[in-house]
Amino acid sequence: MVRENPSGVSPKHSLTRRALRLAILRIGLVSLSAGGISYYVNSTSIEREVTGQLLLSTEQSLQRESLPFQEIKELQQNFLNEFAETLARPGTKATLVDDFQQIFYRHEDGSYTQRPQLFEGQPLADGRRFARMSATYAPDVVPDDDVKARFALSYLLSHKYGSSTKGRLFNFYGVVPEKGFPIYQDADIAKVFTYSGPEALKLETYEFYARGFGTLGNDTLFTRMYWDFSNNAWMTTIATADVADASGKHQILACVDVLLDQLMNRIAKPAMQGAYSSLFIADGEGTLIYHPSAMEQVKSSAGEASIRSLKLTQDYPLLEVASVLPPGQAQIVQTQDNIVAMGLIPGTPWVLAVHYPRSLMTPAIFDNLFIVVVLGLLTLLVEVFILRSILQKQVAIPLFRLIQATRRLGVGNERPYLERLPTRSPDEIGELARAFAKMAERVQDAQAHLELKVQDRTAELEEANRQLYELSTIDGLTGIANRRRFDEALISEWRRGVRADTVLSLMLIDVDHFKRYNDHYGHQAGDDCLRSVARTLKDHALRAGDLAARYGGEEFVLITTTGVGRALDHAQAVCLAMESLALPHAMSPFGVVTVSIGLAVMPFTQEGAVSDLLKQADQALYSAKARGRNQVVLAGPW
Ligand code: GH3
Ligand code: MG
Ligand code: MG
Repeated sequence: MVRENPSGVSPKHSLTRRALRLAILRIGLVSLSAGGISYYVNSTSIEREVTGQLLLSTEQSLQRESLPFQEIKELQQNFLNEFAETLARPGTKATLVDDFQQIFYRHEDGSYTQRPQLFEGQPLADGRRFARMSATYAPDVVPDDDVKARFALSYLLSHKYGSSTKGRLFNFYGVVPEKGFPIYQDADIAKVFTYSGPEALKLETYEFYARGFGTLGNDTLFTRMYWDFSNNAWMTTIATADVADASGKHQILACVDVLLDQLMNRIAKPAMQGAYSSLFIADGEGTLIYHPSAMEQVKSSAGEASIRSLKLTQDYPLLEVASVLPPGQAQIVQTQDNIVAMGLIPGTPWVLAVHYPRSLMTPAIFDNLFIVVVLGLLTLLVEVFILRSILQKQVAIPLFRLIQATRRLGVGNERPYLERLPTRSPDEIGELARAFAKMAERVQDAQAHLELKVQDRTAELEEANRQLYELSTIDGLTGIANRRRFDEALISEWRRGVRADTVLSLMLIDVDHFKRYNDHYGHQAGDDCLRSVARTLKDHALRAGDLAARYGGEEFVLITTTGVGRALDHAQAVCLAMESLALPHAMSPFGVVTVSIGLAVMPFTQEGAVSDLLKQADQALYSAKARGRNQVVLAGPW
C-alpha cells in the first residue's frame, strides 16, 4: 500500500529505504575493512616506530653507560703501564724502597699500614701529601725490596689516579699479590684493619683477587654486584691485572670500586615513557644488577639473584640472546608481553634491557582506529543524508506521482495528477513521465471518443428499441394500436382511472357482413376496407386518454374516459361516420360498409372489472348485430 507523507514517500519496501540500507551496508563494510586495514597498518607502523625508538634510545644508553667503564679501563691500563715502566726504569727501585720506609710502618703482628695522619693530609718530610690514601699490607712472608718497591709504587700511583678522578669514581687501588692493599677512598681502612684476631681482614674473601691474579692476560674483570656495608651502597669492583710473566705470576692488580646508585637511577628511568629497564650479567643465569620488581630479592641474596633463580620466565628469551650480543648494539627481542631492546654495555659483561609493554601501543592503535571509524560514520551520515534527499526528491516522489497518476488514469478526468507529473526532470524518470503524459492523453482521448460512440450507439439502440416497441404494439395491417397495446392501455387506463375516480367507456366495433365483402371484393379489398375503418376510428380517438385499436380480424375497440352520455354520442358518431364514408358494399343490405358497436361504460372500481367491461361490450355488440346491425347498443343498466 502506497501512502504519501509530508516528507515524501515511504512505502515499506521503497527504493529510498532499499538504497539507504544498501548504502549503510556498503559504508559499514568499507568502514570495517578500513578499520581492519588501519588497525593492521597502525599496529605495524606503531610497533615499527616503537621498535626504532627503543633501539635508538637503548643504544644511546649503552653508549652513555659504557663511558665510565671505558674510562676506568683506560685508567687501569695507564696505571698498569706506568707501574711497569716505572719499575723498569733503572734506579727507581731504591727510591721506591725509600718511599716505602717513609710511608709505611710495621705493626707488631708483622702487618703494615701507612703512617698516621697521612690519610688526613699531613705531609711527609719531603712535603709530599697523600690525603685519602690508606693501606693495609699483611704479607705472608717478610717483604723484600722488590715487594716493598711494588707496594710503595702501587701506593703512589693509586693516589695519583685516585685523586685525578676524585668524585667520579669511588675507590681506586692497586693490589699486590703479596696481600698489599693501598687504596684511595673516603674511609681510612688502616683504622679498622687488624691482621690477626677474629676481626682480621681476610683478603682471601675478595674472590676477584684470586680471579684477577688467576688470569694469564690482562682482561678486565667485574665482580657481581655487592652491598658494601661500609659505604651503604651497591657496588661492583672492576679489576685489571698486569700481564703475567712466564710462570703465570702477576705483579699488580688495578682495581676500581664503582658505585652503582647513579647507574641504577638512570636505568630506573628509561627515555621512553612507560618502558622499564633491567640490567643483568651475561653469564647464562642472568644474574641481576637491576630489576625494578626484583630489587628486594637482589638485595637479600647479596646480588646472587638471577633471572633464572627468580624464575622470571618472561625474560628467559633474553638470556639466549644475551650470550651472542655484540657490545654496544641493541637488538629487539619479543617476549610475551613486551618488546625488549637489549644490548651489552661496551666494556662490561652487563646487558641492559629496555622493556616496552606492548599494551602501551593499544591506546594509540585504538585512537587511530577510532578516528577511522568516526570518519567512516560521518561519511555514512553525509551519504545517507545526500542519498536520501536525492532519492526522495528525484526518484521516490516523482515515481509516487507517476503511480498516483497511473491509478487515476481512466478514473474520471483528474487532470491535477497529470499536471503534477515530473515531466520537466531531465533524467530517465522525466522521460518516463513525459511518455506517460503522452500515453495518458491518448488514453483520455480514446476514452472520450469511446464515450461519444457509446452515446451514439445508445441513442441508436434506444431508437431501435422504441421502433421495435412501436412495431410490437402496432397492427401491421391498419397502422393503429394492436391487441397487445390495447390490453396494456386498458390496464394502465384502468389504474389511472381508479386514482382519478373517473369512468371508462369501451366500444367494441365489428364490420358488418365482412365475410361477404371479402368474398365479393377479394381479400385485398377487405384489407383496404379494414384500413379505412381503422382510419375513421383513429379520427375519433383524438383526446388524451382515447385509444383506437384493432382487436382482431374485422373487430376494433375504442376506449375513452368519457361518461356514458358522451360515450354514447361518440359511439353513434363513429357508427355514422362509417356509414357516411360510403365504402360500397354490394353484399350489405345498407349498400355501404357499416359497423355495429357494443358500448360498455363503467366507473373504475377494481381491476377484475376490466373483463366484465369487455364481456358487457361483447354482449352489447351481439345485441347490435341482432337488432339489425349499423347501430350502437349500450350495455348495462343505462
Ligand atoms: P356479421 O355481420 O355477423 O359480423 O357477419 P360477418 O361476415 O362480418 O362475420 P363473420 O365472423 O362470419 O366473418 C368475418 C370475416 O372477416 C371472415 C374473414 O374472412 C374476414 N376477415 C377477418 N380478418 C380479415 C382480414 O384481415 N382481412 C380480410 N380481407 N378479411 C378478414
Ligand atoms: Mg366479427
Ligand atoms: Mg362482422
